[in-house]
Formats: sequence, structure tokens, C-alpha cells
Amino acid sequence: MTPPTSPDDLKGAARKLIREAALVDGAWISAGDGAIAVEDPSEQTILGHVPSLTADQVDEAIAAAADAFPEWSRRKARERGEFLTRWAALITANEQALGALISLENGKPFAEAVGEVRYANAFITWFAGIAEHLDGRAIDSGNAQDLILAFREPVGPVAAITPWNFPAAMMTRKAAAAFCAGCTLVLKPASATPFTALALAALALEAGLPPGCFSVVSGAQSVVGARLTGSAAIRKLSFTGSTEVGRLLAGQCAPTLKRLSMELGGAAPLLVLDDADLELAVAGTVAGKFRGAGQTCVCPNRIYVHESIHDAFLERLTERVAALKVGKPFEPGVEIGPLIDAKAVEKVETHVAKALADGGRVLTGGARHDLGGRFFQPTVIAGADDALFTCEETFGPVCPVFSFRDDDEAVARANASEFGLAAFVFSESLNRAMRVGRAIDAGIVGVNTGLVSNPANPFGGVKQSGYGREGSAYGIDDYLQVKSLTLALR
Ligand code: NAP
Repeated sequence: MTPPTSPDDLKGAARKLIREAALVDGAWISAGDGAIAVEDPSEQTILGHVPSLTADQVDEAIAAAADAFPEWSRRKARERGEFLTRWAALITANEQALGALISLENGKPFAEAVGEVRYANAFITWFAGIAEHLDGRAIDSGNAQDLILAFREPVGPVAAITPWNFPAAMMTRKAAAAFCAGCTLVLKPASATPFTALALAALALEAGLPPGCFSVVSGAQSVVGARLTGSAAIRKLSFTGSTEVGRLLAGQCAPTLKRLSMELGGAAPLLVLDDADLELAVAGTVAGKFRGAGQTCVCPNRIYVHESIHDAFLERLTERVAALKVGKPFEPGVEIGPLIDAKAVEKVETHVAKALADGGRVLTGGARHDLGGRFFQPTVIAGADDALFTCEETFGPVCPVFSFRDDDEAVARANASEFGLAAFVFSESLNRAMRVGRAIDAGIVGVNTGLVSNPANPFGGVKQSGYGREGSAYGIDDYLQVKSLTLALR
């Protein structure tokens, strides 16, 4: 099959993947009354609807996950790995159409969206590769009679709630680990971008996943969230989203003592030390900051540059940012798409206004883009106060730059945040970069790079950015529990 290449063909291929439905125990439940509209953020047109499920329908999905769990968890690890491999192959075969679907519902440029599909698929192949290596241990009991065996077993049926900024990758990062471990899954994707998750789920069924193992539910947060968090049958919740909602869900899970993974917000600092390679630091800042129009949890929210190179850095950064191409996702060469919704644009505007009120000056951008709608100009601001950017993620294409005097001050300012997800350091001295990188209180540190997304990288935060790790050899641990067996030898 020749992959579609023109924007119209790509959009057509994406639309064929749209299912205006939820998936419950292998059945597609159509969107009816009270359905949720899904918009194309670049055109502000309706792409379709997903149903607003009732509490009973969500309960059916939970019951299906519980019923499917014994069989799936006892399958040979090799078979679970083979399923993941088949799923990944189907995703690869549909890569362009899936990328186009992400562009349609999320607005990110098509090339970036295809990159996300590949990144999402890399989690599946990663976990396919470790399915047969979930070993336990034989433990010396300390006496001659007893031998202790520790097994790692799947935690049980899992609920996952995901955000809109990576409609494919945030889902596969959880689903691949869950299926690899032998867990079953009920997923609630973000209401803004459910079609990608539904399309991926359809491919999972095509790849041979037993129906009850994977349901994708949509509906009012209060209904779906309450059923998933309140159910005793669900043994774990994996959440990716804002800190505010994470706190709420953790509280709702307390009565049933679920295992929790919380992948929450960030306000990442990026430090450019005085011995940094300036070109590399500017390129890393642009790559990290403007991916997804600045709507990523790991994107630098505040840039600290040593005072001796501050002006030179700012000049080069401004030049690069001013040249970024803003546009609709299928236009050739577009680097920045629209923001997800009107509220997101208002938040970015507020951050810019506050920065200016705090003494900042705009070097490029600073306002809504001429394209109108949800497009915002890529922006560089200097001379503002860093307090706002330290405590709140902008989640938009705004790059505030501050100066510092020495490494200790840079580390102190980097750590003066309740968040601790990602951080970045640029330095040509490995010793300094290591010292500073280790002193920063964050779960993920990039040295001389603005991009840290890799399935082999343990992904997760500290402080109010959450707990648990996804991807990497550590990512499976959140889906496994240890069970011991003591053998009394005679
Ligand atoms: P959000 O508002 O917290 O929503 C995330 C998900 O939670 C969505 O599916 C949302 O559903 C659902 N939700 C919201 N309120 C709920 C409730 N009361 N009960 C049950 N579910 C509820 O976050 P977002 O705006 O989609 O995503 C952006 C945030 O995610 C940012 O803070 C970003 O930093 C963070 N993030 C973190 C990571 C990480 O790995 N640490 C990765 C990506 C994003 P609806 O869509 O229906 O509202």
C-alpha cells in the first residue's frame, strides 16, 4: 500500500481511523445523546463525537477487565510479548494515518505527530522485548531449613487516565507495560483527543488482544473518574496529567488503597553554564521548548543563562525563535501548530502580561498570531521575574530567559519550585554538568540536550511532579507486585 502524502489524502486516511465510540469489553458503543464533541484545534471544526458513558457502562468495562485478568495474567510471557510485537507492526503499517489523526485532534505539525507515533510504538517494542525477563529471586533465609522464593506478579486490573498533549505516547507508555506484566486495562483518554487512543485500541484487538483486556471509556470526568478510582476491582491507577487533578485522584483512590503512578506537571529549568557550547544550548532550548508548541510536561519553562553569555545567548535564541514557522499541521515546514483550546491561549497571554508587568521585555513574539484562533507567536522574554515561571507551567510557546552569577545560584533557583520533573544543563565540562545535574531536584535531567524522551529513559518526577517511573527497565515495576513463597526444606 502506498502511504498517503498530500494533506487531503492524509486527512482522509486519518478520518478512516476515527471511531465515534467507546470500547467496552470488545464492543463499540456509539456516541448518542450527550456525546462529547472532539475538535480540530487548527480549524476549530468538529471532527466527531465520543459517548458520555453511564456509570453502569464504566462498571461493565471494569468487570470485563477483572474477568479477563486471570487468563491474560497466566498466559505465557512469550505470548504476551508476541502480541505486543504484532500490535507494534500494525501501528507501523498505519504510521502515517495515525500521525495525521494526532495532527487533526491535537494540532501538532504532521512530521512531529509521526515522530510521536514512532515514540509511542517504541514503548511497545521495548516492553515486548522484556516480557520474558520478569524474573524473581531465590533468597537466602538465613537458616538451613528455609528457602524463600520471590515472584513478580501482575498487580491486577489497571485504570489509566491520560492527557491530550501526547495522545498516543502517554497511552502506550502505560498500556504496553500493563500488557507486558499481565495486567488488563481500562483507559480514559483526554476528552480533547480520544480518537488516537481508540484507533490504537482497535489495532490492539486486531493484533489478538482478548477483548475484555482493554476497554477505552469516555465521558464526564466526575462519572468515569469516580467509577475507576472507587472500584475495588481496579488495583492500580496510572495517571498522567496536571498536579491538581493528580492530587484529587490520589485522594479518591485512598479508600481502596490502589497502587498509584502519578506523572504530573513540571516547570523545568534549563541552565546554560558559562562554558556551554552556545549553538548547542540555543538548539537544545528551541528543540525542548517549542515541541508541541510548548505544551509538553518536560519542556523548559524557565531558562537561566550565566551573566557572561546571557546577551549573546539571547541574541541567537531570539533569531532562531523568530524564524520558527507557525501554521496548520499539514503545511510543509510548519514547526508550531495551534494551542489545544481557548483557555490555553488565555493562560499564555496572562503569563506574558505578568512577565511584562514584572519588568520583562519581549524580544520576539508576545501576542496571538495573525492566523487567529488558537495560534500564538513563538515568544522570547528577558528581564522578567522568574517567580511565576517557577511555580506555574506556561504550557505554551513562551521562553523566558534570566541571568545568574554562579552555579550555586543557578541550582538554588532551579530547585526553588514545588515541581521536579525535568531539568536541563548545558556545559562543556562533564564534571560541572554532572555536579549541577545531580544537585537539581528533578526526576529527569538532560545534559547538553533539550530532548529526553526515549523509551529506555526512566520517566517520572519528584516533589509535586509525582511518583512512579514509566518506560525503561524500571517502568515495568509499577505494574508488578512481589509475592514470596517460603519453602521449609525437610
Ligand atoms: P488534566 O486536566 O489533569 O487532565 C488529564 C486527564 O485527566 C484527562 O484525561 C482529563 O479528562 C482527566 N481528568 C481531569 N479531571 C478529572 C477528574 N476529576 N476525574 C477523572 N479524570 C479527570 O491535564 P491536561 O490538561 O490534559 O494535560 C496537561 C497536564 O499534564 C500538564 O500539567 C502536564 O505537565 C501534564 N503532563 C505530565 C506528563 C508526565 O509524564 N509527567 C506528561 C504529559 C502531560 P478530560 O480530558 O475529560 O478533562
